[in-house]
Amino acid sequence: MSNDFQFIEVGRVDPIKHEAKKRATQFIEIYQPYTQPEVKQQADRCLDCGNPYCEWKCPLHNYIPNWLKLAEEGRIMEAADLVHETNTLPEICGRVCPQDRLCEGACTLNDDFGAVTIGSVEKYITDTAISQGWRPDMTKVTPRTERVAIIGAGPAGLGCADVLARNGVQAVVYDKYPQIGGLLTYGIPSFKLDKEVMATRRSVLEGMGIKFKLGITVGKDVSFQSLLDEYDSVFLGMGTYTAMKAKLPNEEAQGVIQALPYLVGNTHHIMGTQDDATPYLSLEGKNVVVLGGGDTAMDCLRTAVRQGAKSVTCAYRRDEANMPGSRREVKNAREEGVNFLFNRQPVAIKAENGHVVGIECVETKMGEADASGRQRAEIIAGSEQVLATDALIIAFGFQASPASWFSEFGIETNEWGLVKANKTDDNPFQTTNAKVFAGGDMVRGSDLVVTAIAEGRDAALGILNYLN
Ligand code: FAD
Ligand code: SF4
Repeated sequence: MSNDFQFIEVGRVDPIKHEAKKRATQFIEIYQPYTQPEVKQQADRCLDCGNPYCEWKCPLHNYIPNWLKLAEEGRIMEAADLVHETNTLPEICGRVCPQDRLCEGACTLNDDFGAVTIGSVEKYITDTAISQGWRPDMTKVTPRTERVAIIGAGPAGLGCADVLARNGVQAVVYDKYPQIGGLLTYGIPSFKLDKEVMATRRSVLEGMGIKFKLGITVGKDVSFQSLLDEYDSVFLGMGTYTAMKAKLPNEEAQGVIQALPYLVGNTHHIMGTQDDATPYLSLEGKNVVVLGGGDTAMDCLRTAVRQGAKSVTCAYRRDEANMPGSRREVKNAREEGVNFLFNRQPVAIKAENGHVVGIECVETKMGEADASGRQRAEIIAGSEQVLATDALIIAFGFQASPASWFSEFGIETNEWGLVKANKTDDNPFQTTNAKVFAGGDMVRGSDLVVTAIAEGRDAALGILNYLN
């Protein structure tokens, strides 16, 4: 039976992490799963407040208090049904959402008692139910004749395919990679998200009737025109992949490394696959400096630690409070041995004989907030210093990478190259070509898994409107 005062009697307890020393050498998920008694205790901490701020703050507006209650009562299959009503990839969001900035950050208990461990319970419900044979109930779905092509098997494309399939529309997902998941498979390292998790989800999605055509680049192996001819509508969920340059002298020096190819190469290495475009690079024995403060930077730092780098340092131009990434991942990185240097703005890459030897930084202090709400970094004159390094990773984020063929088909982009999509309730996420919809990073700019899923799902509703 649930206890109204559980939150006073039982504190927040996160799942146990593998010991930092051990995990710093392994590419395996660092959190151990909850047990059923732990889930019961933690889920019962939910106050079921009348106005669940957690639900509002979750970009998918998940029915959080309701499935926490089902989990507390041990009704895992029902909880899984409810979790999937609003989320296509709940086991993945439970693992990688920055909950401290989303659902858990908005939990009424957050400040004084410690937020309910919403993400970890979501992960438990989904992992447990799937391992016990849970599959979406498709028996009430009436098949329709329409077919929709989806370009991109990342979270946006999968979110769209899920909602279409549940509405009887045949979804056919194209991706240039041999596995589904987009950045979930090739970008996010396996110590945050084991690659088996995505493989299991693929079998669930295929069981719903979703078809995958992998290893096919649209615009190269098949033309966009042929998809327009063959399908009733097309969804674009192609992500953003143009790495932001540091724009510093000597950026082309050897030992200056772009973050995403480095991570993708490492993932291929772990998966036992290979892609010539992203060769494996080991930083064993190197003094590594990573520039940037987001999720990608954290992933690079922790990958370098696991590869056996001699020292690993993060140089970030703002302070810790103004970092864009998840607080949880900063804490994990620190535990694993990463050094953080805050308020350091890079100004020049130092190179000798064509190879990086250091990064010159100036110190900064925090000023007024900018448009994003974060405080600006103001340079302190005369504070230059050089950090010695023999591997410098640039993790400054990504800009849009619009396909060259968009304009030929009347798909307009904005001044930053992001695809223009309708944000109103009328055919949401329809592009300037009425038959084409788009969502995820390629529309909103590089962001989060959960926002990409949300946009893919909303776009599917737009497509259903359009088809009707
Ligand atoms: P993507 O995931 O990029 O998927 C796009 C897909 O489209 C890819 O599979 C690509 O191969 C395919 N594609 C593109 N062009 C074509 C074409 N012409 N033909 C066929 N296929 C094509 N978010 C979080 O919430 N938590 C995290 O911890 C987190 N960590 C991250 C770590 C890294 C290193 C990176 C880079 C991002 C991270 N993110 C994280 C962000 C998150 O991964 C993205 O916001 C999300 O994956 C975007 O989803 P998407 O579907 O829009 O695009
Ligand atoms: Fe929280 Fe993300 Fe789950 Fe929403 S999807 S409840 S934000 S962990």
